[in-house]
Amino acid sequence: MVDVLNLINGRHVPADDTLDLISPATGKVYGTVPRTISASDAIMAAHDAASSWRATPVRERSRLMHALADAIESDLLAFSEAESIDNGKPVELARTVDIPRAVANLRWFASSILEFENEHYETGSRAVNDVLHVPVGVIGAISPWNLPLYLFTWKIAPALATGNTVVAKPSELTPVTAWMLGKLAQDVRFPPGVLNIVHGLGPEVGQSIVDDTRVGAVTFTGGTATGRHIAESMAASFRKVSLEMGGKNPTIIFEDADLEPSISTAAAAAFANQGEICLCGERLLVHEDIYEQVVEGLCRQAAALKIGDPLESETQFGALVSSEHRDRVEAMIQRARDEGGQVIQGGSRPDGLPDHCRDGFFLEPTVITGLDMTARTNQEEIFGPVVCVIPFSTEAEAVELANATDYGLSAAIFTSDADRAARVAPAIEAGTVWVNCWLVRDFRVPFGGVKNSGLGREGGDDALRFCTEARTICTATKTMKGSAQGAVPS
Ligand code: NAD
Repeated sequence: MVDVLNLINGRHVPADDTLDLISPATGKVYGTVPRTISASDAIMAAHDAASSWRATPVRERSRLMHALADAIESDLLAFSEAESIDNGKPVELARTVDIPRAVANLRWFASSILEFENEHYETGSRAVNDVLHVPVGVIGAISPWNLPLYLFTWKIAPALATGNTVVAKPSELTPVTAWMLGKLAQDVRFPPGVLNIVHGLGPEVGQSIVDDTRVGAVTFTGGTATGRHIAESMAASFRKVSLEMGGKNPTIIFEDADLEPSISTAAAAAFANQGEICLCGERLLVHEDIYEQVVEGLCRQAAALKIGDPLESETQFGALVSSEHRDRVEAMIQRARDEGGQVIQGGSRPDGLPDHCRDGFFLEPTVITGLDMTARTNQEEIFGPVVCVIPFSTEAEAVELANATDYGLSAAIFTSDADRAARVAPAIEAGTVWVNCWLVRDFRVPFGGVKNSGLGREGGDDALRFCTEARTICTATKTMKGSAQGAVPS
């Protein structure tokens, strides 16, 4: 049994009530997580620690973050197993992607903060302008269950690096690795109150973070409805909010694409992490000349995925995160049938699982055809292992179909024609467009979505700017004694 605790002011403490933790692979209770109602104590601790953390030399903040990254890396296997048990993802995926990426998030922001400098401008002979990047104060970080530690660190790392204290709330479904990170933060001696982690339900403890005006900004990753509600909650007090939300991402394969690698990448985009990645390609747009070949290849790849106990190293496809989420995805598959679609691969709970996984929340990778863009199946995010294949005949039609949803997070296009790529990629309404690849990420580039997929950008300097306020000091030259050029020491 695992009993997760809140981290408040440098101490691990329980809440009055708890929620059960259920393993997606077995369906069994394996621990508890605090059901915290209010984050007020954590916000108070963060508020009290803010001025000394802000005054801590940037090199020391960076050193502590590197120490935390090193400590997580040393516990790679324990973190990978915990992430797999909590989320249902293959342990091998957690070991090779999620946990290394969490380590990299901490390291990248710990290093980049050393280069993130105040700006200095000489304004003719009259004045100098200094732009200071001042920490917001207390930042609320709210993260989802699909990439638990990866996205948790993606949010806390820039906030801590820029000198903010943090109140973080991981998903109530997958809290264990954030709790483990909190213990390591204590081991490497993060000062009390700098990183606080509270657990519980979104509408309870999550909402209490959002509503508290001592929290200067909230960085949120999760569903669009929740993001909209958070933005509305914060609008009246004009506090900053960054929203990374859902997607209905198109993968587009043109007739001139190198087919085998395109199909493999499209299958990965549909089914990686059981389709539970915001960047998954739920809509596969295929030129009519290669439609049959692509559908056949996609189904072959889906059928070949090894489904099983996520803790087995050969498993490629694990369990969905919860019973409720699997019910939801199954209902969407049924709705696709009702809309006239054909489920040509998967669509059912798999046979042949080991005995201890019989009550787990497994669902086969699923391919659907026969639905156009007017179907709700092609408009609403499923967030599971389901891809709908749609034929097109012209480049213009492909772009039109790609843009025909309320979402705009990402897209992937496959073509061997550089001119076509140069026409199509910029025409797609999305925060990221991959050409002949998928999920290649660079820390320096902005990440986020347009339309219902997001507000603002994270990653790189965008994240550092979100976590700070620009304060400009304009000083008339030659009006003071002393050697400095402006009011701000360089
Ligand atoms: P969710 O919106 O239900 O929950 C996300 C987080 O918000 C959780 O920690 C939850 O407890 C909290 N929350 C819920 N209600 C809240 C409230 N009223 N106030 C404050 N916090 C609240 O999302 P989810 O089901 O955990 O995650 C799946 C969604 O996340 C999908 O839509 C997926 O596309 C999206 N997602 C987006 C990105 C991205 O980068 N754009 C990345 C991963 C996941």
